[in-house]
Amino acid sequence: MISSEDIANNLSSVKASIDAAAAESGRQAAAVNLVAVSKTHGPETINTAIAAGQKVFGENRVQEAEAKWPELKAANPSAQLHLIGPLQRNKAALAVRLFDVIETLDRAKLATALARHMDEIGRRPNCFIQINTGEEEQKAGVAPRDADDFINRCRVELNLPVVGLMCIPPVDEEPALHFALLREVAERNGLADLSMGMSADFETAIQFGATYVRVGTAIFGPRSDYWQTQSA
Ligand SMILES: *Cc1c(COP(=O)(O)O)cnc(C)c1O
Repeated sequence: MISSEDIANNLSSVKASIDAAAAESGRQAAAVNLVAVSKTHGPETINTAIAAGQKVFGENRVQEAEAKWPELKAANPSAQLHLIGPLQRNKAALAVRLFDVIETLDRAKLATALARHMDEIGRRPNCFIQINTGEEEQKAGVAPRDADDFINRCRVELNLPVVGLMCIPPVDEEPALHFALLREVAERNGLADLSMGMSADFETAIQFGATYVRVGTAIFGPRSDYWQTQSA
């Protein structure tokens, strides 16, 4: 397991890189939010990051988050949790209760389910719409050509709290093109937030206007087997 010291050091170096990338593109560093992606890591590791001052975390699996986060949140009420992985409709109600931000709104049936559950539960996590900028078959997200209609439908017809867009560029392509496309779709729809950039490319994403970067490995090191052993 990674040491507390390493996590604190990694966090400060990621933050220094964020500051530098923001400065280089004439942006305020405070406009870039760091989502520490804690998937696969156990509560002890996450607590170390919290103790080092990190407040916003990302998880990609609802079940894993449900096992880890109620206790962490009770102990750290200011921690904010983002869902960054695919959401199945039958877990939508749970996600509305558990997460502060849902970054992976990507299809009409899920949008309808989220709107209904938010009304019933009386909790309205901000949503990002995931755009499949690379139009990859196996990847979730709305196709760029359908984005304007889908965004409009979520906001106007369903009254969902849509704040921005999210993308995961294809692994083998220049991410800058995808970040630029995401920004273009957000701008023409009047959406302020862009969730883009991971450990390998968050500096580029910041140059293209990212307001949220999702960084896992550069903070916590390689994925852990904590969750596998818990769920086995
Ligand atoms: C795992 C994950 C990340 C973090 O990836 P790293 O390369 O470890 O920084 C970011 N976004 C999503 C959607 C992820 O699933």
